Amino acid sequence: MNTIEEKSKETIDLLVQAQKTYFRTGKTRSYEFRMKALNNLAKLIRNNEAKILYALKSDLNKSEAEAYTTEIGFLLEEIRHTQKHLKKWMEPKKVKTAKTHFGSKGYTISEPYGVSLIIAPWNYPFQLQLAPLIGAIAAGNTAILKPSELTPHTSKLINALIKEVYHPDYIAVVEGGVETTQVLLDQPLDYIFFTGSVPVGKVIMEAASKRLIPITLELGGKSPCIVDETADIKLAAKRIAFGKFTNAGQTCIAPDYLFLHKNIRKEFIETFKEVVKSFYGEQPLENEAYGKIVNDRHFNRLINYLSDGEILFGGRYNEANEKIEPTLMVPEDSSVSVMNDEIFGPIFPVMEYEDIEEVIEFVVDRSKPLALYLFTTTNEIEHKVINNISFGGGSINDTLMHIATPYLPFGGVGESGIGSYHGESSFVAFSHSKSVLNQTNKFDFSFRYPNAKNGLKMIKKFMK
Ligand code: NAD
Repeated sequence: MNTIEEKSKETIDLLVQAQKTYFRTGKTRSYEFRMKALNNLAKLIRNNEAKILYALKSDLNKSEAEAYTTEIGFLLEEIRHTQKHLKKWMEPKKVKTAKTHFGSKGYTISEPYGVSLIIAPWNYPFQLQLAPLIGAIAAGNTAILKPSELTPHTSKLINALIKEVYHPDYIAVVEGGVETTQVLLDQPLDYIFFTGSVPVGKVIMEAASKRLIPITLELGGKSPCIVDETADIKLAAKRIAFGKFTNAGQTCIAPDYLFLHKNIRKEFIETFKEVVKSFYGEQPLENEAYGKIVNDRHFNRLINYLSDGEILFGGRYNEANEKIEPTLMVPEDSSVSVMNDEIFGPIFPVMEYEDIEEVIEFVVDRSKPLALYLFTTTNEIEHKVINNISFGGGSINDTLMHIATPYLPFGGVGESGIGSYHGESSFVAFSHSKSVLNQTNKFDFSFRYPNAKNGLKMIKKFMK
């Protein structure tokens, strides 16, 4: 009952054509139309809170507090921020005139790409599908949404809800898995926004390259977390446990592995253990508010990591409810799987360091991370890390929180992604910035023409 059927090529061909035709009517472009579509989205989310919470509970055992904060509340905030600023973002932006262009005016105008495709993963299946949609609407595009087939309750709910308020010529949901996505990727789309894994990101980029379709790739990877000897240990332990074990570690920007300064290693581990106990109790596997692993494939993948080193605490699991305890472990060495794959679960390998240079070398030797977290009260260490490691974005003395403000663009770099979104960046991501030069007819510099006397001499005066 909860499997998602693949969609036929004919259905998808017709849908894309219908959206292309609708986009050409120009209806999606006006400020009023965009604001109304955003109002409808906010209303839809507010009116269906209980159904959304139920779907997220069924797919991922998300607690109400976690689901509201990271999925529902997040979207409502994003819509509110977008509506507040949209008028300003839509205004043409004047630019200066170069000496060579005296008399003319220049400006850029943000134009919608057209038909956009938004592909979502399963870990925040509601939010990661609709947050980019806010950008698509704000920028004046039509949109086709492709939810993850691994969270079928949420996929079906998104489909039902979107149908309630939008005509499919404007915004439509296409449910399905790999096959359906591949048919979608073979369409003459105008823009693709993909959130998911690095290997599938490469598939998307290859498909987009065939038609040179602009893309944004929001990918994943291994995000380091570093605790310096000057850190506030109690606070660091709380904020790291929050970032690592929210959604049972199935967060793209969750701290993946931990580096502890040797002088605070023992104290941190003891404090961390206490914090985890205070968050999830003595028996996290029985705690209703603790998330489950999405399916048995991912569950078994994670269980295998437990033999990659020595377990410091946690390590138990329950196959029946697909839960794994919050686990801290020391990896055998850096060649084991837990130190090479993106973990995406509640297993946390910990290593020790003496000099921050060792950590910097370790991280820059690997793919550029999506996020990085540093706990320190020393400016010098902060600057060293920020200036010497390339990563998508991150927080100092916190985890995850950089994603939750519309004022910071969110995205990766290198293998962790291309482009960014949230707040104005979402509007920018879904818009083409078109440059226009409006030349004066009041006079004309004749020296640029091939028959001009002393033309080159004059040109050299202006262009030097
Ligand atoms: P995934 O790449 O397996 O799937 C994402 C989407 O792509 C799904 O909708 C799926 O149906 C589709 N897909 C899967 N295989 C495909 C193929 N061969 N061809 C075409 N489409 C295909 O990712 P996932 O397992 O759903 O999500 C987990 C990954 O997403 C992690 O790597 C995580 O770090 C990343 N992620 C990134 C962000 C971010 O904002 N950067 C957010 C959440 C998750």
